[in-house]
Amino acid sequence: MSTDALRPVRLVRDIRPWGGERTDLLIGTDGRIERIGAVDPTELDPAQVVDGRGLLALPGLVNAHAHVDKSWWGQSYGGEGGTEGRIRHERARRDELGIPGVRPTAAVLAEMVAHGTTAIRSHVDVDLGVGLRGLEAVREAAAAYDGALDVQIVAFPQDGVLRRPGVLDLLRDAARAGAEHIGGLDPAGIDRDPVGQIDAILGLAAEEGVGVDIHLHDPAELGAFQVELIVERTADLGLGGRVTIAHGFAIAQLPEGPRRELLARMGEAGVSMTTVAPLRLPQLPLGELDAAGVPVGFGTDGIRDLWSPYGTGDTMGIGWQFARASSLARDEDLTRVVRGLTSAGAWAVGRTEAEHDLVVGGRADLVLLDAENPMDALVRAPAREVVIGAGRVLVG
Ligand SMILES: [Zn+2]
Repeated sequence: MSTDALRPVRLVRDIRPWGGERTDLLIGTDGRIERIGAVDPTELDPAQVVDGRGLLALPGLVNAHAHVDKSWWGQSYGGEGGTEGRIRHERARRDELGIPGVRPTAAVLAEMVAHGTTAIRSHVDVDLGVGLRGLEAVREAAAAYDGALDVQIVAFPQDGVLRRPGVLDLLRDAARAGAEHIGGLDPAGIDRDPVGQIDAILGLAAEEGVGVDIHLHDPAELGAFQVELIVERTADLGLGGRVTIAHGFAIAQLPEGPRRELLARMGEAGVSMTTVAPLRLPQLPLGELDAAGVPVGFGTDGIRDLWSPYGTGDTMGIGWQFARASSLARDEDLTRVVRGLTSAGAWAVGRTEAEHDLVVGGRADLVLLDAENPMDALVRAPAREVVIGAGRVLVG
C-alpha cells in the first residue's frame, strides 16, 4: 500500500447511500461525515474529491471475527478434523514453521480492505509457544494504515487456558499491552472445567477493564450450560455490553423453547454473538436474536491457515453464505444481513450503529459498489470499487 492510497477525501460525489437517491457526502477534516446533500466541488481541492459515478454506497464492512495472525497464504493447509485435532496439528506445524509474522498478516489485512472492510476484530493467538509475538505482528501490520483501518485485538488462548498453566498470566499481559479483549475457548470441551475457565477469564477482564470474546464450539446442552454460566458471570461482574460468544453453535441446536429463554437472558445481560456462517451446521436464528436484543456480528474466521485452506477475506461473502444457508429471501431480511455486516455489526469494534453509518456525524468509512441496492450487493457480491476509511482512500 502506498501512502498515496491513504490520501484524505473531503467530498464523495454522486453516490446512492443504501441505494437511495443520488447525493454527495462531505467529510470533515476529523474523518467524520459533515454533510449529506449537494455540494459544490469547485470550492474543494480536486485531489480530495472522489467521483462516485452513481454507485451504491454502504458503510465499511466490519469483520467481527477474524484470525489475521495465522494465515500462511497457501503455503500450508489444515490437515486434521475436529477442534482438538486441529489444535494439535497447528501446534506441531507451527513449531516447525514459527508464526507467520508481519508480512502474511499485512497481506490478509490488504485482502480484507480490498473487499471493503474498514474495521476488524481479530483474535490473535496468545499461548506458551508464541507469547505476545503474534499480537505485536498484528499491531505492526495494522499500523501501516495509520488508523484508517481499525483493527481491534482479542488475545486468544487457542490451546486452552486452565490446562496450560501460565496462559492466564499471558492474557493479563496482553490486556496490559493493549488488547481490547481477552478470549476463551470451549471451557468444557477443551479445559474440561467450564466454571473454572469462565470465572477466570471474565474475572480477569473485569479486573483489567477489557472485554471478553469466547469461542464456544461445544454443542447443544453442553454449550447451552456454558452460555448460562457466561450470562450469570457477565451480570455478576457488571460486564454487560462487553462479552461476546463466538460461534455458539449450541444456540442453533437447542429446541425453540429453551433457546428463546436463553436468548432472552443473553439480551438482558448484554451478551453479543458472532457467526462465521458455518457450513453443515444450523445457522443462528437472526430474527430471534434481534427479538431478544442480542447484537450479532459476522466474520470470516481464519483464512488459508493451519486450520483450513478456505476463505477469501470477504465479509460480504460470509453474509451471502449466512443468508443462503438460512433461506432468507425477503428484502428486509437481506437488508438486515447487510446492516449486520456494516453498521449493526460495528458494536464489535466499540461503535454504536450511528457512529458507523452513512449519517452526519458517522465515521467516514464507506464502500462503493456497482449494485442496485443492498440486497443486490449481498446476493452478487460485486467488486468493491472504492473503499474509504476515516475519510482516507484505502482502495480506488
Ligand atoms: Zn475463530
